[in-house]
Amino acid sequence: MFKKGSLLVLSGPSGAGKSTLIKEVLSKVENVYFSISTTTRPMREGERDGVDYYFVSKEEFEKEIEEGLFLEWANVHGNYYGTSLKPVMRALDEGKLVLFDIDVQGFETLMRSSLRDLVTSVFVTTPSMSELRRRLELRGSDDEQTIQKRLQNAIEEMAYMDRYDFILINSDLELSKRDMVCIARAAKCKRDKGEIKDFIRHWKNN
Ligand code: ADP
Ligand code: 5GP
Repeated sequence: MFKKGSLLVLSGPSGAGKSTLIKEVLSKVENVYFSISTTTRPMREGERDGVDYYFVSKEEFEKEIEEGLFLEWANVHGNYYGTSLKPVMRALDEGKLVLFDIDVQGFETLMRSSLRDLVTSVFVTTPSMSELRRRLELRGSDDEQTIQKRLQNAIEEMAYMDRYDFILINSDLELSKRDMVCIARAAKCKRDKGEIKDFIRHWKNN
C-alpha cells in the first residue's frame, strides 16, 4: 500500500489568512504536519519560537544555507525565510500531509524539486487590496512602514496566482475554512509516481 505522504502549499499576501486556515486544517484533518520555517524576521507578539517559526540571526541563517540544510529559502520583505529539508522528509516518510506556508519564490523552488508530483498548491488572498490593508492593521503586529512593504510585495505576489492548483478568496472565514479542509483531504490523495507503479504490480499479483 502507499506509505509516502504528500505536500500542501499555501501562498498569498501576508495578512490574507494563511495561518488561520492552517490552524483549521491542523485541528480538523488527521495525520498532518506543519513545516515550521526558519526566519530572521523579529518575533511578533503571541508567536513562539519553535511553534510558529524558528527565529534565528542572519548569520545563523546564512550558515544553514551554506551547509545545504534548506529544501528552499527566499528573501521576503527584506528577511530570510526557509524550509529545513530533514523534518519534511521525515514527515513524508511517516505518510503525513506536510503543510507549507511559503511565498511564491519558495513554491517555484519546490516545483523544480523531485517532490513536485506530490504537491497540491493553494493561493490564498483577500477580495481586495483595501481589505488586505484592513486585516494587516487589525492584526496590529506591523508598523505603517512594514505594512506598506507588505502591500507592495502583495501586488508582486498576485502576479503568480495563476500557477496554483486552487484559488481561495478568503472573504467569509467559515466558508474558507471548510474549503481549505476539503482541499487538504484531497491533497492526501496525491501519490508518488514510483509508488503508483509498485501499487499496480502488487494489485496484479493479488
Ligand atoms: P497570514 O498568515 O496570511 O499572514 P493571518 O492568518 O495571520 O494571515 O490573518 C491575518 C488577520 O486577518 C488575522 O488577524 C486574522 O484573524 C484575520 N482574518 C483571517 N481570515 C479572515 C477573514 N476571512 N475575514 C476577516 N479577517 C480574517
Ligand atoms: P510572515 O512574516 O507574515 O510570517 O511571512 C511573510 C511571508 O513569508 C509569507 O508570504 C510567507 O508565506 C513567507 N514564508 C514563510 N515561511 C517561509 C519559508 O520557509 N520559505 C519561503 N520561501 N517563504 C516563507
